[in-house]
Amino acid sequence: MTTLEPELRALDLRGSGPILTVDVEEWYHNCWVPEYIDPSRRPPLIEELDWLLPELVDWLEEAGRTATFFVLGEVARRVPARIRGLVRAGHEVACHGDHHYRVGDLSLGDFRADIERAKACLEDLLGAPVRGYRSPEWSLRRVGNPRLLEVARAGFDYDSSLAPFLGAGRLGNPSHPYAIRWREGTELWELPPFPLSRRFGLPAGGWTGRVASDRRFEKALTRQLEEFGTAVWVVHPWELLDRELPGDLTGMARLIHDLGRRGFRQVFRRRLQAHAWRSIGQVAGGRSREAREPNPERLNGAWGSEGGR
Ligand SMILES: [Zn+2]
Repeated sequence: MTTLEPELRALDLRGSGPILTVDVEEWYHNCWVPEYIDPSRRPPLIEELDWLLPELVDWLEEAGRTATFFVLGEVARRVPARIRGLVRAGHEVACHGDHHYRVGDLSLGDFRADIERAKACLEDLLGAPVRGYRSPEWSLRRVGNPRLLEVARAGFDYDSSLAPFLGAGRLGNPSHPYAIRWREGTELWELPPFPLSRRFGLPAGGWTGRVASDRRFEKALTRQLEEFGTAVWVVHPWELLDRELPGDLTGMARLIHDLGRRGFRQVFRRRLQAHAWRSIGQVAGGRSREAREPNPERLNGAWGSEGGR
């Protein structure tokens, strides 16, 4: 088990600035509804990404911002032109798994197959390496999870899954960027999402970030930037819509979807304008690759280069 007890090293990303990340999934990719997650059990449902992604890309362009988009393999196969459009607009495409299963519900072998399939699918589509991974619903949870080592072995350079939150990731995970190194020599950078409240383990993304006042959000962001030089924010395209819930969600699934969503469209655009958001590739790409390879090749999005195809 010693290979599962890696060394952690805090990363110095001072001066990097805020990072915007987008989890590219439909409203129904909600882990609380297993029949929506499993494509073989999924009923016909309204899908919005085909028109929602271009709208989001337009907003980013207007504001002069860049983001990292964590894309599901199944979404990339359904709307490939939209995913290519992200890279064409200068954004970075990273991987959110092939399907939106909680990783703990997959055997180690099934997990490996899922991330390898998704990575290969995205790389075939983009013709460039995909460097980052984020697990569905922060389900990697902890640094000692053997699946995290599989992420590094699959060729990813960074992960953005180990959220430091109550009920998402694990309360007690570091909230700063760090490098994870296993005894076999494999290394992965961890870029966790930033908290609205460190003390109570509340995320700045998701419904807690949506219901937070701009003042509260700014205070948390400023603190994170002052202490660690960067802060990773998370949004989902479906959060940016003022519309009725397009299908059937109840209980926890409905709460996650609907709390604070009305009006968040405007809040998001305000926060987008207020800060110079960048992609993970722009902030960390060159540096993490330089640490291992002296001559980084041209990569997707802004990962250590000026953009993709
Ligand atoms: Zn997700």
